[in-house]
Amino acid sequence: KMSGVFEGLSKRGKLSEDDVAEAMREVRLAMLDADVALPVVRDFVNKVRERAVGHEVLESISPGQAVAKIVNDALIDALGGAGAVPLDLNAPAPVPILMVGLQGSGKTTTSGKIALRLSQRDRRKVLLASLDVQRPAAQLQLQQLAERAGVGSLPIVSGEGPVQIARRALDVGRREGYDVVILDTAGRLSIDEALMQEVRDVREATRPVETLLVVDAMTGQDAVNTAQRFNEAVGITGVVMSRMDGDARGGAALSMRAVTGAPIKLVGTGEKLEALEEFYPERVAGRILGLGDIAGLVERASETLDHEEGERVAKKMMAGKFDLDDYASQLRQINKMGSISGIMGMLPGMGKMKDILESKDADAVAIFRKHQAIISSMTKDERKTPAILKASRKKRIAAGSGTTVQDVNKLLKQFDDMSTMMKRINKMGLGGMKKMLSG
Ligand code: GDP
Ligand code: MG
Repeated sequence: KMSGVFEGLSKRGKLSEDDVAEAMREVRLAMLDADVALPVVRDFVNKVRERAVGHEVLESISPGQAVAKIVNDALIDALGGAGAVPLDLNAPAPVPILMVGLQGSGKTTTSGKIALRLSQRDRRKVLLASLDVQRPAAQLQLQQLAERAGVGSLPIVSGEGPVQIARRALDVGRREGYDVVILDTAGRLSIDEALMQEVRDVREATRPVETLLVVDAMTGQDAVNTAQRFNEAVGITGVVMSRMDGDARGGAALSMRAVTGAPIKLVGTGEKLEALEEFYPERVAGRILGLGDIAGLVERASETLDHEEGERVAKKMMAGKFDLDDYASQLRQINKMGSISGIMGMLPGMGKMKDILESKDADAVAIFRKHQAIISSMTKDERKTPAILKASRKKRIAAGSGTTVQDVNKLLKQFDDMSTMMKRINKMGLGGMKKMLSG
């Protein structure tokens, strides 16, 4: 439905207020539908409108694609920017992680999931401790999870309060050489001052590196209030959204991020201990907009922009001004496409690189990746003027990119060949180039 609106924008030139208003009405509905809080939606829509109106639409993409891309990019930004934010474990062991949230939000389960992940993937020694003295079963629940995850759990001692248990957990953690101690707190059905005071006391006593708020993604709008209250009362360093396996579209993520400024770090995707994933803003953006269509539009817009980048570089080649930055830009696009056949349209002059072309696609892609790594280990000056690369610089670059000086030399040789060839093409003119590429 939404893509229809976007496709409907057909005028070229600058995006008009009408173009944008129409599209933004749909974006607004999609966001409300995804449970993004109303003030957050308003704010977002206004910002994007400002960004979009007057935006130059490139000849090659439709205004609809242009708006879709602006919306999508802005949403990813608002969700914290592309890429996942890892847990912060930068502190002397045992690193305390405090889990907070309402009852039933998934704190205990998530504690077990994080413990499993840290122990299996990151090879950390993890101790789980339940500070939930409200419900006797809660401590047993965590103990069982610890057994299933194959991590340590703090022996249960009756009669202790949350702060006492937390102190004991850190003591045991220190004595027994644990890397991480995860403190699972009790929740209440709703936020009250007693709960907040309890969490504050534990926080004071343990100085956690991460205070993770666990929120049920299905609670939608309520999640925002919860996040705001917890953040004001105890200060959170990150959010885990549980139950993203349901049909929640994840709008709460945007609201929570907007209200607390804390990154969403992880998402729970099921009841199993393995069901924990990093939070990728780019994926959730698509989910919030709720449309594969939008993704398609954005992709097409990106492809077109890639193509324009390709043409920009080609022009530079023709002018004899091609440098290693341009080469890296080409390599990025090659990596995106991952196949030689797709590359040829974008790389004038590459037709003569027989050794690469004759190898299998996979080998070529590996070589290109290596080249990218090497170039990104160079300084700006080195990329502009490769001639300054002498032995010591090459050694540094090889070390920085995990390659060898020989690899660096190979890249430079190839780059040299390309430059030489481009100069020849320039002399031949376009007709000659076509003949050469086909021959
Ligand atoms: P706590 O009260 O905050 O400690 O919540 P629990 O960890 O005990 O979880 C409450 C219920 O939610 C349990 O039945 C869990 O199995 C379930 N649960 C937790 N996380 C997820 C999730 O990511 N997906 C699903 N489907 N269920 C979850
Ligand atoms: Mg619990």
